[in-house]
Amino acid sequence: MTNLIITGSRGRMGEALLRCAANHPGLNVVGAIDVGDDLASVIDAADAVIDFSFHEATRSIAQLCAEKAKALVIGTTGHDQADRAAVEALAARIPMVWASNYSTGVNTLFWLTRKATEILGPDFDLEVIEMHHRMKRDAPSGTAATLAEILAESRALSLENALKHGREGIVGARTREEIGMHSLRGGDVVGDHTVVYANDGERLELTHKASSRDTFANGALRAAAWAVSQPAGLYSMQQVLGLE
Ligand code: NAD
Repeated sequence: MTNLIITGSRGRMGEALLRCAANHPGLNVVGAIDVGDDLASVIDAADAVIDFSFHEATRSIAQLCAEKAKALVIGTTGHDQADRAAVEALAARIPMVWASNYSTGVNTLFWLTRKATEILGPDFDLEVIEMHHRMKRDAPSGTAATLAEILAESRALSLENALKHGREGIVGARTREEIGMHSLRGGDVVGDHTVVYANDGERLELTHKASSRDTFANGALRAAAWAVSQPAGLYSMQQVLGLE
């Protein structure tokens, strides 16, 4: 039996995690933590913590997990480079799975994006489009950021130089070294992502659409069950799924 604590438990993802965990016979939720609750007072009962809260919270949650030798699964997005580096450094002490998206479909999209970029080569223009519900606080989505990282890596581009967030005004002709990024917000969209490869005469689009948060929740629960038996280190959902 794997004992779990969910941080961000009263949020949209927290609720999905609590509901889905009840259907996994090997998992037992021993703590549900949100603003105002004290993780330190319950963490001893857990084998792993699953964090879907807010980017400002992840660092202290990870610090506590490292001190108490608990596995950590991070779903929260929107961290800056400094937060990211500080949290990642703690993976030297505990097993840590960190993924911008825990759905099996999106992790397949990551794999396909790498493959398609290699096959299509440098002549195709690359654009990423994402759409999420009106309440989402960060943009672009963590998943879109991961897609852009994969595109940049596969084309040996500097992500920082290549990324063009939206376009406005007299921006001039597009270069081959750009990765366009576009964030749409509205309604109750759970998460849509499209990678566009455009060349003269043809266009390929890879699209994933999530219609339920349960897909992320079940993936994160699977990652937690997997992480507790791994040595310390930083792992991706691709590794949990055996895709990498
Ligand atoms: P939400 O706003 O509905 O829920 C976040 C919850 O975290 C809220 O209840 C809030 O009170 C709580 N919270 C804030 N600060 C906290 C703290 N210091 N300690 C404990 N709890 C705290 O958001 P959501 O839609 O559930 O998404 C949560 C996060 O997960 C976001 O960063 C989102 O982008 C990310 N997300 C990731 C995936 C994935 O697969 N990786 C999927 C969906 C959402």
